[in-house]
Amino acid sequence: MMKMMKLLFGTAGVPLSATSRTTESGIQKINELGLDCMELEFVRGVKMGSEKAQVVRKIADNLGVQLTVHSPYYINLNSKEPDKVKASKQRILDSAKIGALAGAHSVTFHAAYYMGMNPKEVYQIVKDALLEIMENLNQTNIRIDISPETTGKLSQFGTLEEIISLAKEIPGVKPCIDFAHLHARGGGKPNSYNEFMKIIELVKEELGSFALKDMHLHISGIHYGPKGELNHLTFEDPESKFRYKELLQVLKDENVSGFLICESPTLEIDALLIKNIYRNL
Ligand SMILES: [Zn+2]
Repeated sequence: MMKMMKLLFGTAGVPLSATSRTTESGIQKINELGLDCMELEFVRGVKMGSEKAQVVRKIADNLGVQLTVHSPYYINLNSKEPDKVKASKQRILDSAKIGALAGAHSVTFHAAYYMGMNPKEVYQIVKDALLEIMENLNQTNIRIDISPETTGKLSQFGTLEEIISLAKEIPGVKPCIDFAHLHARGGGKPNSYNEFMKIIELVKEELGSFALKDMHLHISGIHYGPKGELNHLTFEDPESKFRYKELLQVLKDENVSGFLICESPTLEIDALLIKNIYRNL
């Protein structure tokens, strides 16, 4: 994909202040607000058709708004039921196909649940499924980054190490790093400049400095419990202890570029907040 040379800021889905809930009006709002990108939320199913995707692409191109995609939540590449695994693969393929038609750069998804199994076994199962998905995408000439996400619950596959390892082993797969999820599943860590820096350094060591150049990233405040993520919060919610400003400083110091998608409940308000903080660092 085309390399974005700076860090772009946007929302997970249509901004709340958009005139209507359509993707088109969301992209227009992103542009009006002075934001840069938007994630197409296919989280309850890929309902966008091919024609609509091409309309979306034109509008986004005209306004210079970049797009990413979030696949449906109902994905578990480690389900014990073969039908569910098959449907999960199809949901990723459909998201990739429609996302690519819309001109999106990257598609992210929560790959699997451990289902009480040994994480190493689950890794192998997820890896095999992704290899099959990549083969299918290559055959059909669909070009979009496939970016499994670091997840927030301990029951979910998707530690930083697992996600980086998939990206290292499978050509075309890249990490989507959700920093708030890592903070939640780590029981409050990472949460400092040095700890966030270690994440970036691990990516660099394992995948090369090139991997910092068009990253798919998620950020928000977060509320967690003993099992990890409970819900996303605004950055300044007193319940959230996530030190987002220190993370922004790391992203600036390391010159990380790509798509920083804000998943806070106030979407564009928090996306603008971090964009302004980042600009003044
Ligand atoms: Zn996600």
